[in-house]
Amino acid sequence: MKDTLKIFVERIRDGEPEEIQEELLPLFMDIHEEEMRFEDKVALEGTAYVTDDWLILRMHIQTKVQLTCSVCNNKFEFEIDIQDFMHEEPLENIRDKVFDILPVVREHLLLAVPFYPQCGITTCLHRKEIEPYLKKDHPSNSPFKDL
Ligand SMILES: [Zn+2]
Repeated sequence: MKDTLKIFVERIRDGEPEEIQEELLPLFMDIHEEEMRFEDKVALEGTAYVTDDWLILRMHIQTKVQLTCSVCNNKFEFEIDIQDFMHEEPLENIRDKVFDILPVVREHLLLAVPFYPQCGITTCLHRKEIEPYLKKDHPSNSPFKDL
């Protein structure tokens, strides 16, 4: 497994698209939070090609991230599967004709992480059990409500 992935623009400028098929160590995610841990390999599959003045990347990106449920606080695994990742980079922005894919992949993976993670993906699996404690207007929490 690699920990870097670079596209050499000159190599594909006048030729065939470059096939991308890699499994990367998640080190490039560079996230050091207990609530969001990237520990699985990141699988990339797709192509890189050049049209006019652009480098185009099309990829399928898959990995898993360990998250913490924001309701019950349990850890759970969340699958990230970005089927239609696409990135267009102007060639004039690519220094030394070498494009590092990983910062772009990292950004997309972070966008795919739910802002409000829940252990059942769309809901918390333990919500029923802890709901009584979540209610702010529970009578026992506001003893002076009727005064
Ligand atoms: Zn939960």
